[in-house]
Amino acid sequence: MKTLSTVGLMTSGGDSPGMNPCIRAVVRTALANNLRVMGIHGGFEGLIQGNFQLLGARDVGGILQHGGTILQTARCEEFTTQHGRMKALRQMNSAGMEAVFVIGGDGSLRGAHALASEGVPVVGIPASIDNDIYATDMCIGVDTALNTIVDAIDKLRDTATSHNRAFLVETMGRECGYLAQRAGIICGAEMALIPEKTTTPEQVAEAVENAYVRGKRHCIIVVAEGFTPHAAEMAEKISKMEIGFDTRVTILGHVQRGGRPTAFDRMLSTRFGVHAVEFLLEGKSDIMTALDGRDIVEVPLETVISNKRSISEEYFRIATMLAR
Ligand code: ADP
Repeated sequence: MKTLSTVGLMTSGGDSPGMNPCIRAVVRTALANNLRVMGIHGGFEGLIQGNFQLLGARDVGGILQHGGTILQTARCEEFTTQHGRMKALRQMNSAGMEAVFVIGGDGSLRGAHALASEGVPVVGIPASIDNDIYATDMCIGVDTALNTIVDAIDKLRDTATSHNRAFLVETMGRECGYLAQRAGIICGAEMALIPEKTTTPEQVAEAVENAYVRGKRHCIIVVAEGFTPHAAEMAEKISKMEIGFDTRVTILGHVQRGGRPTAFDRMLSTRFGVHAVEFLLEGKSDIMTALDGRDIVEVPLETVISNKRSISEEYFRIATMLAR
């Protein structure tokens, strides 16, 4: 790869807390290595439109502690077409942008790979509250989202106890049960319903009734967004059965996407940002930064997008044993 002088940086797809500290780390590491950084506003849409802004060290000051993304994010159908990607390449050429960092989720990493396939040096950085990306232990935003869920469920538990209620709490997380399963364990839920495991309304009703019979004064069921039936429908079904408790439903939704990134997310996104630039400078491309145990490693984007992350059986065992 020839010596680089100007690189682009975007956030794309669904936002997640920790994107800002990652932007800061990429920009400042690039500057430390004498690279110019152009911020691309609005993901791949911004790349196609040429919506670029040169970023200096001061432009990324004071953002470390904020959720969201100063570069804005977007979804862009046009970039999935060859025509759209050619438009993006023309914009990059006329701005002198020689490489791109893409901070985003599964879809954005597919976009990153598509861009790399056009011959552009690209490094992806996994950011998704769902933790649904293959080959990395954690993605940017997962820890903050999990803490938001814990906070909400702790509060719901207080009111559930006062009223002898069963709460079904729906967590955002697309087709991945990671957040619901982890939240179920660390919030002491009776059950976590996740897309990766089938659970019938009868089984849920039985667990709720058993909790009632064992003298519990509240019951929490965490329901992943991707589980069928959804929380509201499940509540309706089980409330027609003998369960002891009154039921209520709370949908956490986009609340999970906001908020100050936790210490863990700030550290992870900072390390991802620093290593992403260093990997690129080592001549690596078409890769994603990944957390592997304690280490930040690079994984080919091809591997990332052609594999599916699975849910660990260990957590099922723990959840089942402790919900008594
Ligand atoms: P996330 O990154 O949060 O998973 P999306 O799935 O919406 O979000 O993907 C974000 C954007 O990535 C899409 O709007 C599109 O511009 C781009 N993208 C997704 N898949 C592809 C693909 N196969 N080829 C090119 N671009 C893609």
